[in-house]
Amino acid sequence: MSDKFDVIIIGAGPGGYVAAIKGAQLGLKVACVENWTSKDGKQQVLGGTCLNVGCIPSKALLEISHKFEEANHGFAEQGIEVKDPSINVAKMMERKDGIVKQLTGGIAQLFKANGVTPIHGRGRLLANRQVEVTDNDGNTKTYEADNVVIATGSNPIEIPPAPMTEGFIVDSEGALEFDKVPKRLGVIGAGVIGLELGSVWARLGSEVTVLEALDTFLPAVDQQVAKDALKQFKKQGLDIKLKARVTGTSVKRNLVNVTYEDAKGEQEQKFDKLIVAVGRRPNTDNLLAADSGVNLDERGFIFVDDYCQTDAPGVWAIGDVVRGPMLAHKASEEGVMVVERIAGHKPQVNYDCIPNVIYTHPEVAWVGKTEEQLKAEGEAYKVGTFPFAANGRAMAANAAMGLVKIIADEKSDRILGFHVTGPQASEIVAQGVIAMEFGSSAEDLALTCFAHPTLSESVHEAALAVGDGAIHVA
Ligand code: FAD
Repeated sequence: MSDKFDVIIIGAGPGGYVAAIKGAQLGLKVACVENWTSKDGKQQVLGGTCLNVGCIPSKALLEISHKFEEANHGFAEQGIEVKDPSINVAKMMERKDGIVKQLTGGIAQLFKANGVTPIHGRGRLLANRQVEVTDNDGNTKTYEADNVVIATGSNPIEIPPAPMTEGFIVDSEGALEFDKVPKRLGVIGAGVIGLELGSVWARLGSEVTVLEALDTFLPAVDQQVAKDALKQFKKQGLDIKLKARVTGTSVKRNLVNVTYEDAKGEQEQKFDKLIVAVGRRPNTDNLLAADSGVNLDERGFIFVDDYCQTDAPGVWAIGDVVRGPMLAHKASEEGVMVVERIAGHKPQVNYDCIPNVIYTHPEVAWVGKTEEQLKAEGEAYKVGTFPFAANGRAMAANAAMGLVKIIADEKSDRILGFHVTGPQASEIVAQGVIAMEFGSSAEDLALTCFAHPTLSESVHEAALAVGDGAIHVA
């Protein structure tokens, strides 16, 4: 096969692998360069952060730990008697690893079925859309393409007061691999990843303390929703300390000693393990030759326009390595847009309609603007909320917590924001995404017939509450 392609993609995460498959389906000759290698050093592993050490393994552990938590605390009040449930961590990890293996193997099959050429090695962009690939043995080979798509993702940020220390201070990847439940677990960062991983181990029995430097809990989330969720997390035993800035760590006698400053001054706490979850940075290390023509923005992301074009003609960049939310589905959407543009179509990504989810219990999910954003922008709006406490299906599921909140434009009634905390929020938010994609008004949702009894009836009621009022509230 010739070494010239229509498109070479660097990185096979949800941005890169989706772009590769879609590009091939559009009739383009596509290669995808990926340097992730199996633990035995033999095989290329596709799927990126998301499938290997991100979305999928974390959700596998969240699902299992939630079931365990229910068996311990939720079953009895429903009349289900289970004696002393216990967790087999090795078995749980085996299941998680099995799911990852099945999904990553599935991408290799999809590449084959669609005619995508996988290239195993580390890619580097040279001038004129040439990609140099170095394999595990250090051999290099250069490929050419009419278009190159950079999809190299992101890496966890390390902070000087808490350097990684094997077996004790770990990042999100290490937190998916503990071989037993730590008695005391510290988490630095009350963001999405910190809350999800903290929840997993808290449900399995760890005493979890989350240290967050900011004084606002989940500042990107609508604050009514964030406050409601925080109440639930605290009830579950997550000790979330806001305005607590970590200043140092040390490992002694198999314990991690953490010092942090809060409103009362310097504090100290000991943990068996510490997870550092303070964010991720774009992965551009050793990626761009000096004459590649691609520039970075002031925060180190690859600079792109609204269509993911870089400053170098024919070079595109997508996913975590460019501006915007670090989310798998955002990366995939950008991947599809880019290859469709390469194929001559004119699609665009609607960045106003990208859903966000935190997979805690209750889940927190949203799309569009928060009340705080609208206030800051001086927009006139109206709000409707409905609590799951008044939803029969949520009660039947022993999950009557949280609320749905819909924010609509004061005059036009068009939905501007859709926020949920509660059972299945990750699924329910899709209704808000669809409504907003179609430019619906709150009244459109209020006039829609929802099945009874469903969690989604809370969406109906919240939409009614934007207008004349919900039915099932006193
Ligand atoms: P990545 O998935 O990071 O893939 C980049 C790929 O490029 C990697 O495979 C890497 O090996 C490869 N690569 C890098 N440099 C080179 C090079 N020079 N040559 C060859 N290959 C290279 N997002 C969600 O939407 N939902 C979730 O529930 C969710 N949960 C998460 C949980 C955790 C614990 C973490 C860490 C992340 C989570 N995310 C979640 C974020 C999500 O994983 C990322 O947004 C997503 O993976 C970004 O996709 P990407 O294709 O841009 O990059």
